[in-house]
Amino acid sequence: MPTTEKPENAPEHCPGPSTEQAGKASACEGCPNKNICATTPKGPDPDLQIIKEKLSSVKHKILILSGKGGVGKSTFTAQLGFAFSSDENIQIGVVDIDVCGPSIPKIMGLEGEQIHQSLSGWSPVYVQDNLGVMSIGFMLPNPDDAVIWRGPKKNGIIKQFLKDVDWGELDFMLIDTPPGTSDEHLSIAQFLKESGIDGAIVITTPQEISLQDVRKEIDFCKKVKIPILGVVENMSGFVCPNCKGESKIFAPTTGGTKKMAEDMKIKYLGSIPLDPRIGKSCDMGISFLDEYPDSPACKAYLNIIEEIKQHFTKKN
Ligand code: ADP
Repeated sequence: MPTTEKPENAPEHCPGPSTEQAGKASACEGCPNKNICATTPKGPDPDLQIIKEKLSSVKHKILILSGKGGVGKSTFTAQLGFAFSSDENIQIGVVDIDVCGPSIPKIMGLEGEQIHQSLSGWSPVYVQDNLGVMSIGFMLPNPDDAVIWRGPKKNGIIKQFLKDVDWGELDFMLIDTPPGTSDEHLSIAQFLKESGIDGAIVITTPQEISLQDVRKEIDFCKKVKIPILGVVENMSGFVCPNCKGESKIFAPTTGGTKKMAEDMKIKYLGSIPLDPRIGKSCDMGISFLDEYPDSPACKAYLNIIEEIKQHFTKKN
């Protein structure tokens, strides 16, 4: 179980993150992990087996991670979903577990949609027949409402997205996570412990401030034994549409993503330039890849997506 191991910075008498005493023992006072331990589900959870059965019809589960917010993680998740679903033989599910900042409904053109309930559970909201989406965003009466939830409630809804949704047969489940390593990450690692996670794709900008958090993200994955499929550098450069000169807006000061990937022995999947049309497509909820197929950013996305596809083709 990923959370049974004591973290390196645990106090001397740490009761262990998965024990009933976790976060509550006197040794926990002052420990930076106190809150996480207190809210993480304890002991063998009977729901894990139910989730395993429910998700036995899902071939591959992929987490999309980033160290920081605003680096393009949800945008990448959405474009990956759009790109995969352009093959009508591939079934895709997108799960948005960024409970407090769900942007997937907007980016995928589903704002204002609602979840339907049937005898077999909640139905995802469909962009098209082979692309279903689940997000807390569909449950809010008003998209501008703030979701202010503590850990246990967030854990509960994430569990429901896996256990109570009628996902049907899926080739890929893409899970868009919040930035950083928080309750949600521990929960998803825990809930999918029995069913297995194929791997994580990490998104970053070339800037050291983003890379420094990505290193923590990679360390988290290693600790909870989630394989890393690779890292994507987003917002890598900007080509001025007038003078055609390229500027490094988020300039790398420590060698950038490629060097970090080499240093940390993980796969570098490629880079995507800054392109204001990506932002525009997100706001309009349409596929950037369909809208601007000849753009360098589209080609960059597709090269990366092909790498990911190849990984699974080789695996199958
Ligand atoms: P995150 O999920 O990491 O918080 P988002 O996917 O919401 O980030 O992206 C943050 C903002 O950056 C959004 O406005 C999005 O449209 C924009 N964006 C993402 N990637 C690019 C890019 N390559 N070029 C231009 N804008 C981008």
